[in-house]
Amino acid sequence: MDSFNAELNQRLAAIREDNLYRELRRVDSPQSTRIRIDGKELLNFSSNDYLGLANEPALKEAVVKAVEMFGVGAGASRLICGSLAPNHELDEALAVFKNTEAALSFSSGYVAAMGTICALLGKDDVIVIDKLVHACLVDAARLCGAKLRVFSHNDLNELEDILKWADSVGNPASQVQSRNQVLVVTESVFSMDGDHAPLREIVELKNKRGAWLMVDEAHATGLYGANRRGVAEELGVANQIEVQMGTLGKALGGSGGFICGPRTLIDFLVNRARSFIFSTAPVPAAAAAATAGIRFVQSQSGEQRRNMLWEHVAELRGLLPLSPSQSPSAIIPIIIGDESKAVEAATALRDKHCFVPGIRYPTVALGKARLRVTVTASHNPGDLKTLADALQPIVNRKS
Ligand SMILES: *Cc1c(COP(=O)(O)O)cnc(C)c1O
Repeated sequence: MDSFNAELNQRLAAIREDNLYRELRRVDSPQSTRIRIDGKELLNFSSNDYLGLANEPALKEAVVKAVEMFGVGAGASRLICGSLAPNHELDEALAVFKNTEAALSFSSGYVAAMGTICALLGKDDVIVIDKLVHACLVDAARLCGAKLRVFSHNDLNELEDILKWADSVGNPASQVQSRNQVLVVTESVFSMDGDHAPLREIVELKNKRGAWLMVDEAHATGLYGANRRGVAEELGVANQIEVQMGTLGKALGGSGGFICGPRTLIDFLVNRARSFIFSTAPVPAAAAAATAGIRFVQSQSGEQRRNMLWEHVAELRGLLPLSPSQSPSAIIPIIIGDESKAVEAATALRDKHCFVPGIRYPTVALGKARLRVTVTASHNPGDLKTLADALQPIVNRKS
């Protein structure tokens, strides 16, 4: 035990030395625009609860009802002990919401990515990812064993070159398999920068090259498109994306992840996605919260919240000297660069009652540390003014 602790202490010291040490901050309140930390109330500009559903009465009521009817535990994997009705209701609600043939929910977005990519690809295949995709997509790409290629962020030329290369390495004559598969993976709205992928162009490219496409809409579900399905809906390309992924833990207010697409994809995942097969089903409370979140997003209140969110984003941007953004996003990164300076900036904001996370490596690249401001529909104009005033010295020092 002594040598074990000594080794870990040494590793922790190295993390501290690099200004990359992290610790948990206990919150003694629900997730909301105001959170209580260390006995102090702070304005919360850190969460992905974009529509304010994490503490929404309609979702809480649905959870209480589900717990009364179905209890708290799921018992086992859905394939082992029978699959509870709330999980089916969620999958059906997801398919209707996303307008796909079918959907499958997972216990998190992370494991949805792991299970799906590892089910679809093996060592004879090629996976092509954007440089800035989320860690779960990177980890899945590594674990699946396919040849991994990375294209510079949103760089269509590089993507096309890789797809041409993948064509040339496919089809080894000796193999019985007709063709090695190529899967392109990107996000519609990038989690730490808030910018968008050029989905229309990517769809065109993968169609031309016969590749498959998986799009993670974690930060877009509930926020974009006439029916708030995401950016793919807004751009009219949803039905050309083989694998649509999202999470239930951001705008939808609960927790979990999902995959939507053709019935064949979902049947295949039930048979082959190891993180689905070998993991206890999400509990009834989680499934019910997500279903209620989807219904809320689909309702008129959902549309109002979404509109309110964009009003707040525009309002905050108007109060800050930021360069104009190409595409609307509730994620506003303020790049600081140096890791310790980002931590100092976050501390200075907390002293002014604003909770904004300083994001460092490995969440973003070394030397690209930043404050990641997220705005929600539930903030009020006074909150935005308070944040803008607190941010002013930091933003001014930068420019
Ligand atoms: C949060 C996030 C995930 C993971 O989803 P969880 O449900 O939190 O596990 C996946 N992809 C992106 C882009 C994310 O931001």
